[in-house]
Amino acid sequence: MVLRQAFIIGGSRGIGRATAVKLARLGFNIVFSCRSISREAEETRNAVVAAGAKCEIVTFDLADRDATVKAVEAVIEKSLPDAVIYNAGIARDNLLAFMTHDEWDDVIRVNLDGFYNAVQPFIVPMLSRKSGRIIIVTSASGQAGQAGQVNYSASKAGLIGAMKALAREIGKRNILVNAVAPGVIETDMTSELPKDKIMPMIPLNRFGSPEEVASVIGFLAAEEDMYIHGQVIAVNGGLVI
Ligand code: NAD
Repeated sequence: MVLRQAFIIGGSRGIGRATAVKLARLGFNIVFSCRSISREAEETRNAVVAAGAKCEIVTFDLADRDATVKAVEAVIEKSLPDAVIYNAGIARDNLLAFMTHDEWDDVIRVNLDGFYNAVQPFIVPMLSRKSGRIIIVTSASGQAGQAGQVNYSASKAGLIGAMKALAREIGKRNILVNAVAPGVIETDMTSELPKDKIMPMIPLNRFGSPEEVASVIGFLAAEEDMYIHGQVIAVNGGLVI
């Protein structure tokens, strides 16, 4: 098996952790980022190593542009990843009528500015190499809009626009850019949601698992026979059809 390297931005838990383990099983060595080293991050590293891959953790706050660029440039200098997965994201839900400046700013800074901060440094080196895969984790909320999530929906819809424009910019150099749009997935992010109110909206009648999102990311990152480019692949149990 040819060993490749994947960089997962936001890999300490949830969908990011499942993606790290999936890609390790598919033959990638893993570098993943998180805000700080935690027990969760250590657990992810152990799971990746148990899956037979090398694993390195880098820490930075995506909202801090200088720190993010510095950390990402250090990753690139060591070894330019074959696949970059932009998975990090936060939600600060509130109705727009009551949304505070901080709730708006925090979500846009991490989810959307963070994409620019962390992914932009990869573009020129990938263009020079003439290969790469970039996969962005957006959301069903960015496709359909979700009441109580105007900030989050805007950031995730922004990522879809960014992904489509970037796909047009760099496809010619054999860099494939796609997005995955999860519906409601069982992670810490959704642990407080009222299941009884949401379930009737999901035709499969269950929340998804992080592994069910990771398998699609793994396919987009690893499959060699690939003509999917500039697309949003929904993984939502039918929530948005
Ligand atoms: P999670 O909260 O379990 O994990 C988020 C990851 O992002 C962590 O690794 C965390 O370290 C990282 N992160 C957050 N803020 C950061 C910051 N400021 N700087 C650096 N890293 C930061 O989330 P999850 O549920 O696994 O979601 C992963 C992605 O999937 C997110 O982008 C989320 O918006 C998206 N998503 C999740 C769901 C869901 O139902 N869980 C649905 C749709 C989309």
